[in-house]
Parts: sequence; C-alpha cells; structure tokens
Amino acid sequence: MACKMKDDKSILDELVCINKPLLILAGPGMGKTYALAYKMKYLVNEKEVAKDEITVITFTNEAAINMRKKISMEGGETYIEPERQPSVIWTMHKLCHRVLRIYYSKAGLNKGFEVLPSQNLKEILIKDCAQIVGAKRKDAAETITCRQMSKCDETFHLKCVICSQYQELMRGFNYIDHDDQILLTCELLRKNEGILKKIQQGTKYLLVDEYQDINYAQWELIKLLSKGNANNLFVVGDDYQSIYGFRGGDPKFIRNFRNDYAPNAVVRHLPKNWRCPPNILKGAFHMVQKYNGGDITVLDKFSFKSKSDIKIKVKNFEHHNPEAGFIAWKIREIGPSYDVLILVPRLSYAGPIKRELRKKFIDFSCEYSIEKTDLYLMNVLLNWLKEPTNNFNLRMLIEEIINRGASDIPAWQTEFKGKKESQQKREEALKQISDFWTEIGKGKTLYTKIKTLRENEQFTKLVEILITLRKTHELKTDIIRFVSETIDKLKIWRNIRNFSEELDSAIEEIKSLAMPAGECSVRILTMKKAKGLQADYVFIVGLENNILPSENASNVEKEEDSRLLYVSMTRAKKELYLLHSKTRDRDITKVKIAGKSEFIDAIPPQYIEEIN
Ligand SMILES: [Zn+2]
Repeated sequence: MACKMKDDKSILDELVCINKPLLILAGPGMGKTYALAYKMKYLVNEKEVAKDEITVITFTNEAAINMRKKISMEGGETYIEPERQPSVIWTMHKLCHRVLRIYYSKAGLNKGFEVLPSQNLKEILIKDCAQIVGAKRKDAAETITCRQMSKCDETFHLKCVICSQYQELMRGFNYIDHDDQILLTCELLRKNEGILKKIQQGTKYLLVDEYQDINYAQWELIKLLSKGNANNLFVVGDDYQSIYGFRGGDPKFIRNFRNDYAPNAVVRHLPKNWRCPPNILKGAFHMVQKYNGGDITVLDKFSFKSKSDIKIKVKNFEHHNPEAGFIAWKIREIGPSYDVLILVPRLSYAGPIKRELRKKFIDFSCEYSIEKTDLYLMNVLLNWLKEPTNNFNLRMLIEEIINRGASDIPAWQTEFKGKKESQQKREEALKQISDFWTEIGKGKTLYTKIKTLRENEQFTKLVEILITLRKTHELKTDIIRFVSETIDKLKIWRNIRNFSEELDSAIEEIKSLAMPAGECSVRILTMKKAKGLQADYVFIVGLENNILPSENASNVEKEEDSRLLYVSMTRAKKELYLLHSKTRDRDITKVKIAGKSEFIDAIPPQYIEEIN
C-alpha cells in the first residue's frame, strides 16, 4: 500500500486543491474510493473544514459503511480522527429521508409517513392503479420507471394518469416510495429558499461517489445542494461502469458534467490502475468502447501496477456440466490462498457450479434470493397475520398466492404470455381487487372487502385460504395445525419434512454469507452485484448471445449489457476466464442461447488466449 502514495500522491494532492466543480473519471481499480477519502482528509486536516459542513454521498449503504471504515482505520493513509470525521456519509435516500422527516408538512406529508418496503409491492400497486383508471395491468410498464427517468408529464398521457393515481393511493395511506424520497426533497428545496439555505450549510463541501449511476432527480438534488458552493463540488465516477439503467440511472449526466457546471467545471482522469493486468483492462476497455463510444486513446495514458502479461482466457464447452467441472477443477488447482469470484448472469446458473464445488469439498458462498423460496411466502403470510389491518401486506400475500397457483386466478405470466381467455380472467379478477383501493378506509380494510367476494366463483378458493389461515393462526395454541394448514392451502412444500429441509438449507446459505471475509475465498454472485468487488481469479459464465447481450436487446440495452460485462471483467487481479457453452438446460437459461456472445468477439484478439 505504501507504494501507492509515491506516484499517485502528487496527482491527488493537485486534484484535491482544485477549487472548481470537479469530476474525477476513474476506471475500475483506479483508486476512486481512495481519492474520496483523500479529499475528506485534505478538507479536515489542511483546510480545517468543520465536520458538519461536509456531506459525502455514496450509492449503497454498504459503500457508506466501507467509506467510514476506510477513514477510521488507524495507521491508514486516509485515517481521520473520529471526532473530526464528516458526520454525513450516507446514501442520497437516507439524506433525503432525514430532510423529509424534519420538514414533512412543508413537503405535503403527514407525520409518521412510511416508506414502501419493496420494489415488488410498488409494481403491484402501480398495476392496480392502472386498472383503477380503466387501463390494463400491462399498461403500467412505462409508469414503473416514469418518475425515475423524470419523464412524468402533467398532461393526460396514460402512463402519468396512472402515476398520479398511484401517488393518490400512496398518500391516502400515508406512504411514500424510494423515488418520492428524492423527488419530494427536490421539490421542497426548490420551493423553500429558507430550508435550502439551512440544508446547504451541511453540504458546503459535497462529495459524490458513483456519479455515473445517478438518475434525473438525483442529478437535480446535487445541483440544488451545491448551488452557491459548486466550486467545492467533488464527484467521482466512470461512465463505462453505469449499470443501473433499470432504476433510471443514466450515464448522460456524467457525460454532461462539463456543461452542467459550466464555465468552471473541470474533468480529470486518475491515470493509474492498481488492480488489473494490462491485457485484461485493455481488452475490456476496447469491448465497452465499441458499444458506448468514447475516446480509446485514453488507454495510452494509463499506467499499470501489474506487470503481468497474462491474457484474457476464453473457453468453450459443449454443456454446462463440463463447464462447472472445469471451474471446480481450476479452483482446486488455484488453492485456498487466493480469492475467486464466479459471476453468473442469473442465479439459476449457479446450480451446477455449486454441485461441482460441493463434490470437490470447496467452501463457497453464493448470493441468495429468499424471494424465490416457499419460506418467503410464509414470511409474507406471517407479516399479514401479525398486522391484519395492514392492507399492503395483504395485497402482497394475495399476489403471492395467485402467482403460485394456489387460487383459481391465473398467475402474472399470463399478463404477457398466457392465452387470451386466461389473460381476461386474470385482468377481471384483479380489477375487482384494484377497485377496492378507492373504497378502503372508515373501518373498511382490504380484508373486509375481499371477504365480500366469497360467493364469486373465481375468488372462493382465495377467500377461503385467507379466512382459514387467519382463524387457525388466531388459535395460537396449535402451531402444528397452522403449519400443515399453510402447507396444504398455499400448496407449498409437500410435507413438514420438506419444510424443515428448506429451512435448513436457507440457514446454511445465510451462514455461508455471514462468513467473515478470508474464511471463504470463493464467491458466486450475479454480475449486477459485482460492482466494487475484486478477486484474484474471476470466472464469468454464460457469455452467449441471448444471455449477454440479452434476448432482443435494443441498442441502449446492448450498451448497458456491455457495461455490465466491463464491470465484471475488471474485477480480476490475476486471471480472468470468459466461459461460454453450446448448450444449457432450458430451466437454467429460460431462453434459447445462440452461440458465443458477440461481446467476446468485440475484444481484440491480441488480448485473448483461447484455451481448448
Ligand atoms: Zn408519470
């Protein structure tokens, strides 16, 4: 670590002193977090800025924790004494939440407002609102990202009619969602100069991480907070690492920084790569540049800590089983003193790999998604039973019951793929539930309304399930009866034994996730979770057309997919393996794969070694 200071320090020393709106472009492994920590230290120690005048914004809670750790490490180069550390190192959502809690009435909210807990629920409610205004559930698709992209218009465009119905529903129950946290804060600050001034005292020095992933509302918030103090604005990011388009993140904001903060804005690069062997970074850079444009000559200015001349390894398989076998064999060969990252396009790809690793007694941790398990349905059920008047919890439960085929209403896939007849059946059934939202209140809950549907053929089963489970739960004394009723009614687990098996494996998964770093050196993750991580050896699985790039990808989606691969590739410190297979089982891929990914062909051959 000490060597890092020598040639990088002079550059950083210069960058932290720049008294203009500054964007630092830093590729993967270029010391972006270090630069932020270095700036904090400079502000506190050299400029003696008070800790309440600095605000640091990170993209995730985890990143905020890591940033705090980085400046708290005694003896570290970026150590700051606890009593002088910036008070606010938060995500933008947390920052906004605090503001709204204080100024709730000015923001048009009621005291004690709650935040919608899940994206899933948000989508269900927006679809319900589509039906309330007379549209179809699938008409809600655009509305779901409408506000994140700031494409909301006040005119009578259908997607925004749905939008405002959704707002009305949410406010009626005193709820806001994650988008509201930022949107309402922006509106509050835009309209109340006095409050803005007050908040700005804390953001006199505003430092922002992952600037490439902000969406429109977040962009506006940064503008507002830095107004008048833009010369202290310090943001870091990399447009090629922007991978959150699905939540409105858009690299156009980082590309426009110079204009947004004209005429003073300064854009600079961090020139040294601390992580990747040159061939790996260069190959990845050429690939991503081919799809996203940009200046390839930037590569010539990079220097590398790694002197390795190792190339990107590409290997083809006939089927996913030999592929999984190869990964396990290779990891055995690598040995336990190095860490390994196995990146998959989705979790279904992890199955065969996990089996092979277990066979070879290799410890590993794997990303785990409780949503796909029956335990999750149990959890949704208990949430409602614990609080039977909570309409949102009941709505979640109803959705789960329907989608698992336990009632007579067709599951959600039919919205897009089903027969006309079942589409209609589903649409009609859910319309009845959606319409209840306008009648709830004054002692009427969703539960009381649903019960009125008991005589309705389509709902008989669903209503009966809800009534029975609630009654058995209220008995409290008979837990076994409750569990077996649940299993029977919701069609989950074949028997109590299956239930205990799933519980067992869930606990195993969670234990392995909680294993302290270093104890388990092999991690399996989806590519979307790879950001911010690094490992000696990286395997990327599923590099086939229709997977990455995804099936029928538009140009914009292809750009984003290529950035996702770029982020994944540049996690590697020693070796990188790009794997693709001619065939895979359909339950893994969900689509028909169509040969080696075009992204691999976009890497110039001089950076590749085919191993076959
Ligand atoms: Zn809208």
